[in-house]
Amino acid sequence: MSNRTIMVTDDIYRYILSTSLREPDVLRRLREETKRDPDHRMQISPEQGQFMALLLRLMGAGQTIEIGVYTGYSSLWTALALPSNGRMIACDINKQWTDVARRYWKEAGIQEKIDLRLGPALDALDELLAEGRSGAFDFAFIDADKENYDAYYERCLALLRPGGLIAIDNTLWDGRVTAPDPGDEATLAINALNRKLLQDKRIDLSLAPIGDGLTLVWKRP
Ligand code: SAM
Ligand code: CA
Repeated sequence: MSNRTIMVTDDIYRYILSTSLREPDVLRRLREETKRDPDHRMQISPEQGQFMALLLRLMGAGQTIEIGVYTGYSSLWTALALPSNGRMIACDINKQWTDVARRYWKEAGIQEKIDLRLGPALDALDELLAEGRSGAFDFAFIDADKENYDAYYERCLALLRPGGLIAIDNTLWDGRVTAPDPGDEATLAINALNRKLLQDKRIDLSLAPIGDGLTLVWKRP
């Protein structure tokens, strides 16, 4: 026993899944299909999807943003946790991957909840700001190109209502954030944002060691 976060061995990981995961069949099938893609490690893990869905329900979230859809696994967990009138703005630049996502959104019967914006996410977020939708969203999930993380964070914070939540993925970046001299742009960007968040008086935060590190940011009223 220890008062630091436990090391998740393969045995413990299997135990977590076998005792707590309730993954709907449509999500399991999407995960199986995504596994055949060479980039499948980009998809969030099932226990992270379930964790995010629980947060959305706790908050009673209705309006959400997702930056980085890929084949749709995280967006499907999110959309299934929204009420029937809930809506998500989903941003990605890749048509081929999001065509897979669309197929599963339809199969799950939640396609009406998702407004896919194909194109650079910064443009989509700037459009929402220009349309006067600041403060209109309950939740945002940031999971696209890491070099833009700070720009996504600032825009999402403006689009969020006070008391809303941003979940930022990959904030532990396979442990690379701890390297003394990382050298690559993605690691530097994640590190810079992690450090900025700690000092940011506009928010409360928690870096949850789930998946590849998920930082939860609560917008102070
Ligand atoms: N959230 C997804 C999931 O759990 O299945 C994984 C997202 S994957 C890590 C990152 C995605 O960001 C890719 O699908 C990629 O096409 C998209 N992306 C990269 N640069 C982008 C940009 N500038 N604007 C919008 N999407 C971008
Ligand atoms: Ca990710």
